[in-house]
Amino acid sequence: MAVNLLRSARAPFRVVIVERSGLLGRGLAYSTRSPRHLLNVPAARMGALPEDAEHFLRWLRKTWPDTAPGDFVPRDRYGLYLESLLRDVAARAPAGVQLETVPAEVVSVQEEGGRVRLALASGGWVEARAAVLAVGNAVPADLRVPDGGLYASERYHRSPWASWALRDVGPRDSVLLIGTGLTMVDTVLSLEEQGHQGVMHALSRHGLLPHVHRAGALERSMAYSSPGIRDVLRALRQEVMRECEEAVGADGHLHPIPVRIRAVLRIMRQEVKRATDAGADWRAVVDALRPATVPLWHRLTPGERRRFLRHLRSHWEVHRHRMAPAIGETVERLRREGRLVLHAGRVRSFRLEDSGVEVRLRPRGREAEEVLHVQHVVNCTGPEGAITRAHPLLQEMVAAGRVCPDVLGMGLATDAHGALMDLSGHASGLLFTLGPPRRGELWETTAVPEIRVQARALAEHLLQRLGTAPVTRVPMVHTGLPLDR
Ligand SMILES: Cc1cc2nc3c(=O)[nH]c(=O)nc-3n(C[C@H](O)[C@H](O)[C@H](O)COP(=O)(O)OP(=O)(O)OC[C@H]3O[C@@H](n4cnc5c(N)ncnc54)[C@H](O)[C@@H]3O)c2cc1C
Repeated sequence: MAVNLLRSARAPFRVVIVERSGLLGRGLAYSTRSPRHLLNVPAARMGALPEDAEHFLRWLRKTWPDTAPGDFVPRDRYGLYLESLLRDVAARAPAGVQLETVPAEVVSVQEEGGRVRLALASGGWVEARAAVLAVGNAVPADLRVPDGGLYASERYHRSPWASWALRDVGPRDSVLLIGTGLTMVDTVLSLEEQGHQGVMHALSRHGLLPHVHRAGALERSMAYSSPGIRDVLRALRQEVMRECEEAVGADGHLHPIPVRIRAVLRIMRQEVKRATDAGADWRAVVDALRPATVPLWHRLTPGERRRFLRHLRSHWEVHRHRMAPAIGETVERLRREGRLVLHAGRVRSFRLEDSGVEVRLRPRGREAEEVLHVQHVVNCTGPEGAITRAHPLLQEMVAAGRVCPDVLGMGLATDAHGALMDLSGHASGLLFTLGPPRRGELWETTAVPEIRVQARALAEHLLQRLGTAPVTRVPMVHTGLPLDR
């Protein structure tokens, strides 16, 4: 957002970034220091600018010249990239277009007399003509089960991404990882890195592991993507048309009936079969659907979206959010060695004991409970799904009625531009958001390929509203900043 504003605004214009960590461009995803935590998108697709997906790749090659387009590089490099891009753009912005950074936490946001006032935890405040809540991901929420004193103890680790999170886990300790997705994989890699040799149990409702990217998949999926998208969309359109005809027959009026999630699944399966028969890989079909995900999500009623979340979400996540090949090999090795054990089921309760934690769980499809004894429990459920419940600022704003959760309760209700809606459904002219808080409304909104498009569109919308309509953009020269921050 800041890069786009700084590149397009007409002076005088000031962008103020208020960031509680004091670090720019990091957030939950890119603040890791572990070289084993890799991006799950190939380098050639992670450019921060919508018109230049390879911008990150070129930046990388200044320091790591051998980086290939399909490489999955350490995530901390992406944090460095975002920061260097921002500083670079700020340094070359026209006179009177400025960037200011304020290392502080925003605790409340109010609209007053056509301006926004942001109160800071430190006691100060920032006033602005508009504010964008780019608050990103919230840390995982605790499981809502009896915790028997666990959550307050040192045996529980609520957010595996904190740098100190796993330091109390001894080399031979047994660990329960709750969740079997990419956060669990990150945690397994962190434990390996610190020399852990004990058993790691990983548990989720379905016990599904993320699939693995195929080496060379970037080239293959690019070759496949155009016909794939066209065919999937054509089939969906036909499905919508068929349903519309049925709707006309029912009451004599035309009610465009939205797509059913079951139809989407059926079409996807057909498309996967067609693709694999033609020698392509199912991954190419999943990737081909990505640009159509947001329009597709809009055609699902809230009921259909809930049906997706209840029945298909876990399956979608493991196919869509895949592991880099090298990580997939590590995970497979750990499973073969018996060090990583997968469980499908639900935790019923925890109980803190002198020597560890007793975990009662109900295996999937069985009535009888099982008991597991481990020394540590790590919450690997990933960023909290219902962000308005987990994020203190959003909690406060929802409670005050200034913003409203989306109908699924996953994020915030917004209009098409990302303007925040209040409880009466009125879109604010001053408050906006993008990225993870729009998950309930867009579904595919948390990763860079989507966020970079939203950021550009919102920046242009905002500048227009503020009467400082986009001027010719400052051209991007790929100077890059030195890495010795
Ligand atoms: C572990 C992990 C790995 C990921 N890997 C990838 C990947 O490989 N590729 C990809 O495309 N996407 C990935 N993602 C998706 C990721 O969500 C986005 O890429 C991106 O980081 C989201 O950016 P953001 O700026 O919206 O949010 P964030 O990066 O979460 O940043 C939000 C920032 O807001 C700050 N903040 C929040 N509240 C306040 C407040 N009240 N006051 C002041 N500051 C505040 C936070 O400190 C944080 O720095 C990953 C996500 C996670 C969690």
